[in-house]
Amino acid sequence: MAEQMLDVAYRQARIGLSEGGIPIGAVLFGGDGTLLGEGRNRRVQLGDPSVHAETDAFRAAGRQADYRSMTMVTTLSPCWYCSGLVRQFNIGAIVIGEARTFTGAHDWLADLGVRVTLLDDERCAAMMASFIAEHPAIWNEDIGLSEGLSEGLSEGLSEGLSGGISGRISGGNSG
Ligand SMILES: [Zn+2]
Repeated sequence: MAEQMLDVAYRQARIGLSEGGIPIGAVLFGGDGTLLGEGRNRRVQLGDPSVHAETDAFRAAGRQADYRSMTMVTTLSPCWYCSGLVRQFNIGAIVIGEARTFTGAHDWLADLGVRVTLLDDERCAAMMASFIAEHPAIWNEDIGLSEGLSEGLSEGLSEGLSGGISGRISGGNSG
């Protein structure tokens, strides 16, 4: 079940990649497995740093009465911003593709009683690792590192920028 749900989020991430965006996808499912909303990180596409995959899926689902039975599925460990969303609306469960390339706040969610499933999915990890290697500045911008911010804004989508991924395990804001 979790793997099938992750497949939907992975497809969203691939769409994002094909658009030139950061390949992170997310889907919000109802307690009965109904797909309520899906989305992807569209920081680059929309020029909007608030459009993370999870917030995009959350907004696509529209107004909901009770989130407790729902599951947020995301290809990458959720950042503080998106973990805060899960906490704020009492979303009951989260399924995560991988946390190798970035470790967000899913341990914090688990401590709060959210059911956390970490799949350690090879496709998701390979997709992010490849993107980070090719677009380090865009990635650093997404996780809130200043060198990424300045380079990312001035150079846009240019490839081969310096910056690296050294900061990825610290508490940035990806998702
Ligand atoms: Zn996020």
